[in-house]
Amino acid sequence: MHDLPMTASVVDRDGPSRAEPVRIETLLADPATRVIELQGDRSPLRPDRTLALRSPEPEDTETLLLYLGRLDGIAHVAACRPAPPKGDATREERLDAAPFASLREVAGELPQAQATLFATALGLANWHVRHPRCPRCGERTEVVSSGWVRRCPQDGSEHYPRTDPAVIMAVIDDADRLLLARNIGWPEGRFSVLAGFLEPGETIAGAVIREVGEEVGVSVRDVRFVADQPWPFPASLMLGCTARATTTDLVCQPDEIAEARWFTREEFRHELAEGYLRAAGRLSISSRLIEGWLGQRLDELG
Ligand SMILES: [Zn+2]
Repeated sequence: MHDLPMTASVVDRDGPSRAEPVRIETLLADPATRVIELQGDRSPLRPDRTLALRSPEPEDTETLLLYLGRLDGIAHVAACRPAPPKGDATREERLDAAPFASLREVAGELPQAQATLFATALGLANWHVRHPRCPRCGERTEVVSSGWVRRCPQDGSEHYPRTDPAVIMAVIDDADRLLLARNIGWPEGRFSVLAGFLEPGETIAGAVIREVGEEVGVSVRDVRFVADQPWPFPASLMLGCTARATTTDLVCQPDEIAEARWFTREEFRHELAEGYLRAAGRLSISSRLIEGWLGQRLDELG
């Protein structure tokens, strides 16, 4: 899974320097600093479909500023603005119509380091948008530590960015068939592996066993962690696993799963080729879990 988007550990997060006084101000005064703009969940691209990183501009001080760390020794800062009202492309126009793209749209084609920077910026920005107030007293908190902490001016409590772990699992039975399911709300033919959030007090294996049991009524054992992937939509970390089914009868949880099926490799390839089955893109770890079972890349099929 070496090419799984958003998983490259190439950015030095430079955590110890975040809390230095005027850290962000110092970085913004340095033209060598690279700024990644976010407008809502979108960032401008160059014509070659890489991030349009740029030097700091005076009006960056009016945005939410997040110090992301150093890449090849160069400091990178995210400057985050709210998404413009629908139909209002003022800022895009001012940037000579540099196309903006969401992380979902471009994570698979960006250089790995840029996808990681974008994912870090988006995950952190999402947290700020969703956690503006102190969970203890309700006061509006202020951004400190270069964007990595929010502090309450009323009671002094400090609040840190959240990441919500979720398990995602390839369940395989003794006949080597893969379990795929269609969520309610997904179109006909779109199937994927099961996934669900961890609950407090739960282990990864415990969450896999519980989720598979709840969603399709199947018992599993031999849960193995395979790989993980940040998934900042808005704040997840996907923990990719495999598990062996000890039962095969499927009972779908009606408010979550529209249908679930066991696929042989031949059925999977055939239905994909015939268009009955829609393959997911290769952005998410779900595609890699399926490929691990299939023994073949999905983009080499049909
Ligand atoms: Zn407070």
